[in-house]
Parts: sequence; C-alpha cells; structure tokens
Amino acid sequence: MSKNWRPATKLVHGGTLRSQFGETSEAIFLTQGFVYDSSEAAEARFKGEDNGFIYARYGSPTNDMFEKRMCLLEGAEDARATASGMAAVTAAILCQLKAGDHIVAARALFGSCRWVVETLAPKYGIECTLIDGKDLANWERAIRPNTKVFFLESPTNPTLEVVDLAGVAKLANQIGAKVVVDNVFATPLFQKPLELGAHIVVYSATKHIDGQGRCLGGVVLSDKEWIDANLHDYFRHSGPAMSPFNAWVLLKGLETMALRVRQQTENATKVADFLAGHDAVARVIYPGRKDHPQADIIARQMTGGSTLVAFELKGGKNAAFAVQNALDVVSISNNLGDAKSLITHPATTTHKSLTEDARVELGISSGLLRLSAGIEDADDLIEDFDRALGKAGK
Ligand SMILES: *Cc1c(COP(=O)(O)O)cnc(C)c1O
Repeated sequence: MSKNWRPATKLVHGGTLRSQFGETSEAIFLTQGFVYDSSEAAEARFKGEDNGFIYARYGSPTNDMFEKRMCLLEGAEDARATASGMAAVTAAILCQLKAGDHIVAARALFGSCRWVVETLAPKYGIECTLIDGKDLANWERAIRPNTKVFFLESPTNPTLEVVDLAGVAKLANQIGAKVVVDNVFATPLFQKPLELGAHIVVYSATKHIDGQGRCLGGVVLSDKEWIDANLHDYFRHSGPAMSPFNAWVLLKGLETMALRVRQQTENATKVADFLAGHDAVARVIYPGRKDHPQADIIARQMTGGSTLVAFELKGGKNAAFAVQNALDVVSISNNLGDAKSLITHPATTTHKSLTEDARVELGISSGLLRLSAGIEDADDLIEDFDRALGKAGK
C-alpha cells in the first residue's frame, strides 16, 4: 500500500484487507462481535496487546478498510467512520469541547451543522460566535480567551463562497485552537484541508463518496494524537458507528469517485457557462469560473472546480419554481453529489428554517437555485436547462 499512489489508485486499492478466501471485492463483515481463542486471548485483546477487533461499535473489518482508504486519500493518520455526516460533525465538535469553551464558526453552514453549533452546543455551556467567514479579520475579532475550535465549510452551501483555509489555520495555531473543516463540497479530490493547516476534516460520505444515492455515512479524519485524546473514547461510548454494510457500499463508491467527480465537474462547468450566457439568469456562482468573487483563493487552495453550481434567476421565486418544474433530466431534490443531476431551491427547502434576515446575509435570495451536476451527458443537461429557462419569464 503506497502513500505515493495517485488518488485514483488509492481509491481502488487503499485499505483493502483480504480474508483467507482471496476475494476480489472487499468482504462485508456484518458481525456485531468477535470470538477469542482463549481466555488469555480475550484478556490480551482488552488490554490492547494486539489490535484485533472487540465489538462493532468500536470498529470492525469492513469499516476499517473504509477508514484506511479515506486516510490514505486524505493524507490523515487516523479516522472514524460514522453513521451519517451529522454524526461525524457532532462527534468532531463535541468530543473535544467542554462547558466554558468557545467555538468560532463561519455562518454559511449546512443547516444541521449550524444547529449543532448555534443551538445544541450552547445547551451544554459551549459558547458559539457565528461570523462571515469570507473575511479573515472577522475570525480574528471573534477570538476570546476560551476559543478552542474554528469550524467552517468551504465552498459553502448553497452560495459556494470560500474561506481562506490557510489563513484561518494560521490564526488558530496562534491561539492553540483546532480547525474543523467540513470538506463535503470540495471533495477529498479537490481540496486537502490538512495540508493547508487544518486539524480535523469531516465528510458526509452520503454525498460524493457514495455518489449513487444509497446510504448515509460520515467520517472524521485527523492525526492519531488528536483522535486518541479526543475522539477515541467519545466514539466508543456514545455509539455513532457506521453499519458494516454501509461501509461496504461506500468502499465501492470510493472506487468510482474520481471518475464520477471528474465527469460531474466537467458537466457543472459546461452548465455554468451556459447559464452565465442566458438572459433569464442574473448571476452564476461557480468555483471553476474566473468571475467567482474569490477566484484568487480558489486558485490557491483548490485543485478543481465543483460539482455544484449556484445561480440566480431574474424572475425570483416564480421563475425558480417554473424552471425546476420544467426540468426533465434534472430532478428536484435537496441531496447532492449524486450521479443523477439534482436541483434545489434553498430558500424554501434546505434553508427554510433560517430567518429572512439570515438568508439575506448569506445571499440566499428567492430566485436562487443550486444544481448538483450528475454524470449524464452534458448536452442533455444543457438542452434540459435551455428548454426549462424558456419558462422562467424575466
Ligand atoms: C449533507 C451534509 C452534511 C450532513 O451529512 P448527512 O450524511 O446528511 O448527515 C453535513 N455537511 C454538509 C456540507 C453536507 O452537505
């Protein structure tokens, strides 16, 4: 197993653990527990004298393969696979904090992530300040003596803003705080937060890692020291473990992720360019385009564009609804990262629970749509939008 393999090779071979049968495909070890050859062997296992498995809530062979493949791809020392992306985010934040600690978070967060830091954490005495993460000065201003964690997502959902990861990591290191990055939108292929100085990376594996709409999953990655000191016990005893069946599905998802993400990104680029030239569209926000407001930061920290495109219609909500309803190939769904192209109207779905003011702050207007490009033929997607935009009015 080579750390020097390129990503596409790591995705196919990384972490593979063959049983005595020599199977080609990874095996599903759908077992809760493990048996021991003797009392002494059980004692030794519990003492940690060998690194065999004890109980599936702690770890198991299929999950281990998934964790090792993710570590290799991310360049992380260790990982824990969780039942969902939100289990990963919640674990990454709560496992390292206690009452009296303070989080600084970029306010442009996936809705449930925002709930964890804004509503859940304060119930346990963990304070949180939400800021506009685009401006580094805001991170610095929000620092308090008890600041322990910086939390952000980049690019953000749904407006695809980016945060300067190296800049935030530098500030965090000055005060000994940890940077947690939700890297779902960038994917492990296009952005490496650990290399940019972040300490912990989380994914919803539900998105590009599965990529075919089947199961939920998540993963937390970091260095071994941080995981041993923070996540290890939290993970064992609070029980967010992933099902081995899902770990197997996600391993198969990883095998094809580079192919899918490449095609999705190519499609997203073509659709973004088409939309940018259309009369009914007021603006397009796409991290792969030169007119992205933060194109300089994107060039510094990302190696690819995005599978997502945000765009605003001149005709507001009525136009956005009409376009969604007229699309044929593209389905209306709040999910993303799928092989199928999916579109959502954030203001009335994923970001409905925010106040109108919070939506305005984040640039989520009533005419905004978010497309997650799939792996269909790009020309079919463009023809679909061309026809649907005809129904948008002006
Ligand atoms: C989907 C998503 C999550 C939550 O993941 P689940 O697997 O749905 O729990 C967290 N962050 C981002 C950016 C997401 O897109």
